[in-house]
Amino acid sequence: MDVEERAARVLREVFGYSDFRGRQREIIEHLIAGGDALVLMPTGGGKSLCYQIPAMVREGMGVVVSPLIALMQDQVAALREAGARAAALNSSMSWPEIAAVERRARAGELDLLYVAPERLLSERCLALLDAAPLALFAIDEAHCVSQWGHDFRPEYIELAMLAERYGRVPRIALTATADAVTRKEIIERLRLREARVFVSSFDRPNIRYRIAEKDSARKQLLKFIRAEHSGECGIVYCLTRASVEETAQFLAQNDVPAQPYHAGLDSRTREKNQARFIREDGLVMVATIAFGMGIDKPDVRFVAHLDLPKSIEGYYQETGRAGRDGLPADAWMVYGLADVVQQRRMIDQSEADDEYKRIATAKLDALLGLCETTQCRRVRLLDYFGEASVACGNCDNCLEPPEEWDGTIAAQKLLSCVARCQAASGFTFGAQHTIDILRGNRTPKVAQFRHERLSTFGVGADLDVAQWRSVLRQLAMMRLVHVDLERYSVLRLTPASREVLRGERRVLLRRLTDRPAANRSRRRVDRSRAIPVEPLAGEMDQGLYQALRSWRLEIAREHRVPAYTIFHDATLEEIARRKPRSTDELRSIPGIGAAKLERYGGTLLQLVEGAR
Ligand code: ADP
Ligand code: ZN
Repeated sequence: MDVEERAARVLREVFGYSDFRGRQREIIEHLIAGGDALVLMPTGGGKSLCYQIPAMVREGMGVVVSPLIALMQDQVAALREAGARAAALNSSMSWPEIAAVERRARAGELDLLYVAPERLLSERCLALLDAAPLALFAIDEAHCVSQWGHDFRPEYIELAMLAERYGRVPRIALTATADAVTRKEIIERLRLREARVFVSSFDRPNIRYRIAEKDSARKQLLKFIRAEHSGECGIVYCLTRASVEETAQFLAQNDVPAQPYHAGLDSRTREKNQARFIREDGLVMVATIAFGMGIDKPDVRFVAHLDLPKSIEGYYQETGRAGRDGLPADAWMVYGLADVVQQRRMIDQSEADDEYKRIATAKLDALLGLCETTQCRRVRLLDYFGEASVACGNCDNCLEPPEEWDGTIAAQKLLSCVARCQAASGFTFGAQHTIDILRGNRTPKVAQFRHERLSTFGVGADLDVAQWRSVLRQLAMMRLVHVDLERYSVLRLTPASREVLRGERRVLLRRLTDRPAANRSRRRVDRSRAIPVEPLAGEMDQGLYQALRSWRLEIAREHRVPAYTIFHDATLEEIARRKPRSTDELRSIPGIGAAKLERYGGTLLQLVEGAR
């Protein structure tokens, strides 16, 4: 049997899939032939198979370097469930356990061995590898070698020694970080100059991007979860530890099972919360960005941002944790004026040099551009990574195109109101007061400063408060007005404001809409073409689906593994849709390999039979 056939056979029999995805086939064949590779593929793109299959096809054992011990165990569990010969070596294991794994490695009984980088570099481990035939080295999360990234791990740099000591063993480095600087660093530091580079599209077609204006963030979040994700698993990102705690509490009080995660919690609590999140169905993790690297839970159905990330890279990475299984998932964010002002202030007040501040400001502005655009979000996002695309049909702007309106006159009213307040009183005021004057509200403060006599008093009664806030936020984004957080958030004119006041600049604004929750059809997505495909024929039997899920939970508890290592949601959905009657029909369902068919096939058919 030739190499191609052997790889396809492992894909089918071990993993239960009929086709390779994206560039998997090319990468796998290149590795089996003994080449080195650098693989850049988005989260959920299917990186693991790129080394798991060659490790099973080639002679000897594949050594996988992975930085997160807590997650290694789950990967090994998933492989074992599929009937593969896999094990891990890490510091959470007892000596007899370690000795047993080492014995199996020496005896050639392992296809895959997962190790943390510091352990791999130990004399004991290197001696073990010297003695065993090796199929390949896979260096996962390879961006950890980058000193500029926030996941930097010093041990990763020392992995360069593998190039010399095991010169004939192919190496594959993998990452979901897209940018060119990191790529160059990986190649140099890991000595992968001869490696072939495989760059995949960074599109995640099954993720629906939605960005809305913040009015009361937690309530908006609750409404979103209740309407679209009740009982499902998700991640909510907040900027500060305090808001993480408060949001987790708020959700829990409102019957959404939620727990916090941030660097201020002790490591045991963090580990416990993380383990619960991975193992349980339907839990919401409220976290700072300290949470997430290496989390490969496939069924995270939404990622919500209650605060702005710092850059598009951050936004992409965090939202990328949704929908690894390819089923529809939401990236949902709300943002408001205060977020923008706060982020700008954090940059201004940081200790860093001007060059850093300049870059940080440019990154933030690119993100704000994504927030404010009336065009397809995905086009904008991919364009940032240098990838051209066309309107996606699966983001808020595509689904319900926002209206643009000419806000020049509104902007002039607002800016001249700011200017007149200052001229009349000698200082400027905050948003609320300015809007009160525009709308002609006779508040005590208006009376105190006799602002009802300003020529701008009442000239803006045509817009309501929310609309004025939206105008103000957009002007602030465009730097047409400055919000001075240091001084009671007063508004000030900027050099660019004058251009608007003099009528030299037209201001196009996006209309404030209270968007109803986008219609959530469970659409299937053809990942190879990045076009959402209409639902497959045949509705899913909900009762059967729930029965399959409870059965899966029982088995997962019994085996002490996360539920998704038994079967993915996608596999259970397909069973509930097709209702197979025979082992052969069952075999054709994606995600059921030979080992699982043998172990669970009978039970699955009984469950289906019971639902007829
Ligand atoms: P990554 O490491 O790139 O984030 P994974 O390797 O965890 O992604 O794969 C993401 C999901 O896609 C997994 O659930 C995996 O089982 C599934 N998958 C990978 N390759 C295929 C394929 N060829 N066909 C179907 N599903 C696949
Ligand atoms: Zn779109």
